[in-house]
Order: sequence, then C-alpha cells, then structure tokens
Amino acid sequence: MSRVYNFSAGPAVLPESVLKEAAEEMMDYRGSGMSVMEMSHRSKVYDDIIKEAERDFRELVNISDDYAVLFLQGGASQFFAEVPMNLMKNRKAGYIITGQWAKKAFQEAKLYGEAVELASSADKTFSYIPDVSDLPITDDMDYVYICENNTIYGTKYKKLPDTKGKILVSDVSSCFLSEPVDITKYGVMYGGVQKNVGPAGVVIAVIRKNLITEDVLPGTPTLLKWKTQFDNDSLYNTPPTYGIYICGKVFKWIKDMGGLSVMKEKNEEKAKILYDYLDESRMFKGTVVPGDRSLMNVPFVTGNEELDAKFVKEATAAGFVNLKGHRTVGGMRASIYNAMPREGVVALVDFMKKFEVDNK
Ligand SMILES: *Cc1c(COP(=O)(O)O)cnc(C)c1O
Repeated sequence: MSRVYNFSAGPAVLPESVLKEAAEEMMDYRGSGMSVMEMSHRSKVYDDIIKEAERDFRELVNISDDYAVLFLQGGASQFFAEVPMNLMKNRKAGYIITGQWAKKAFQEAKLYGEAVELASSADKTFSYIPDVSDLPITDDMDYVYICENNTIYGTKYKKLPDTKGKILVSDVSSCFLSEPVDITKYGVMYGGVQKNVGPAGVVIAVIRKNLITEDVLPGTPTLLKWKTQFDNDSLYNTPPTYGIYICGKVFKWIKDMGGLSVMKEKNEEKAKILYDYLDESRMFKGTVVPGDRSLMNVPFVTGNEELDAKFVKEATAAGFVNLKGHRTVGGMRASIYNAMPREGVVALVDFMKKFEVDNK
C-alpha cells in the first residue's frame, strides 16, 4: 500500500485511522454481521450511529438546543436553493460575493426572489474579503448570505459581517470543523462534508429552530422543506447512511485530538509553514491579501504558466497530488484540510524549495 499526500480541494484527504477503522468494520459492523452500507436506516444499530454522530457533532461545535442539526443530501449546491425556499418570506435577500460558490448561491436565489449584491471582491479576482462592517442591508431583506471560506480563491472571513439584525446564512463547506465557531452568530451554518469532514454525499446544516417552519415558498418539494427533515430526525427518507457513519468517525477523531481549538492550532501551524515560505520565495507567490488568507486552501503561482505546469507535473510524480489550481484561477492550490498531516506540508515546502533551486 502506498499513500500519496493528497492536496485535493474536495473530495479530500481523510484521517488514516478513520479509513482503517472503516476497513476493519467493513464486513461485520460490531457483531451485526453486515456492513453499515447494508443496514436498514430504521434499524436500532443504525439509529445509534446517526444519534451518536449528532451528539458528537453538537459537542464539538458547542451547539445548544436552540439549533437543529440536519444530515441532508444534494450537496451544498442543492442547499443554495433550499435557503431561499425556506427563508425568503419577503422574497428579498442580501448576498456578499466573494467567489464562485457565493456567486452560484446568489444566482440560485434569483430564481426565487430579489437577490441583492451587498458587496463583492470580483474587481480583484476575489483575492480579498470586502469590507462588511456597514453593508447596504435593508429592512425587507430576509437574510444575509456569505460563503465563509472561499475554496477556489483561498480567502476566509476573519470577522463576520454586521448583518444589522438580519439572519446570517453561511456556507462553511471548506472550513467545517477547522476551528471553533460561535454558533449563536448564525441563523444557518451549513456545508457539504466532502472537503473537511467526510465522504461526498452528505450536507450538514445547523439551523436555528425558530427558522424551521411550514411557511416556505409555494412549490417547495417536501424533501427540501427543513421542517420535513427536522420532524423526522433526518430520517424522512433514506439518508446517506454510510457517509454519516464516516462523518461520525471523523467527529470522534477530532474529539480525541482535543476538539476544535486544538484543530485550529494545528491548522494555523500548518498554514504558517506554507505561507511563510510563499512570502520568502522568489519563485512562488501567494495570490491572496495576507489578512484574508484561508487556513484551508492556499493558492499560489510562479507567474509563468509553463513553470506552473512543470511544477504540478514533477510534484505529482513525487507523490504530492492534486496541486493544480482551479480551472478559473490557474496556478496551484494546496488544500491543507484537518486530515493533512503537518509532515505533508513540511514535505511539500521542501519539495518547492528544491524545485525553486533547480529551476532558477
Ligand atoms: C465544494 C463547495 C461547494 C459545492 O459543493 P457540492 O457539494 O459539490 O454542491 C459549495 N460551497 C463551497 C464553499 C464549496 O467548497
């Protein structure tokens, strides 16, 4: 068996101990005589899995009883529609455009009502987070929407926007469980888990319970009504059972490590190794305004497309894979999620240093 250092933006690296445990339990989950994949979602044994996953998640993020935790399907992209369907009572909402995922959510919302651009960093290829301290939020807006960590461009909000009392909805797909959060600041916090938490196919949504009502836009499908999912403990229909089981193992892994503050320290340490090198290198440059840098996604360029391509090719051959930047940005991007070990980042930086010397 040979494992690479996988810098994919998503689906992404998972903790090896989680994969090993899942492999050990593959044929016979704790004496049940079957794999978790083969189990009824209505069985006692599966009910324990999903309930324990929710308990551990709540404990990690410190979520009070005022909030529901839902395990959903459809990816973050389906949730782009669920937000207006469930929240756009006045058919008007504000969106902050910090990259492609925020823009897609914004465009989706326009199918249901008036989506207003409150601020944008499109003028400088989304290389920074705009000033969000005094946004043109009007009284009739149902919510304010952000994408908190911009996976493609590598920016992250260091301070949440002043929503002037409006509900904050945040897509945290690529920074889920990477650091502690104050959930009370959010109306809705959600993400696809395939970046930092588990396998593709699961969305976790944390929703303030008073926002879960029957009062949704006409025509909202039963399954996409948060009330349906909430009333049925995410088991209205068959949930993504195996994915939730793996997420549960990742929650335990983070708990064993010491929780989200320890996770944050580790992530800061890893990111610093890479950013410090990018700041001192004469060949590689980070593309993001330093104050807005993400701890999870680190885009960088040489300024020469041929050299970028040579780097990606040689890095791949050396076991550092998925470093090619997103097709809309070019260059490189190293995603260094929770499960990327410190050694992986150190080894990547060593490789970059050697490449810089060899290609002067
Ligand atoms: C990957 C990603 C998405 C899209 O996720 P899907 O699950 O593929 O729909 C949305 N938002 C962010 C921030 C992402 O990183």
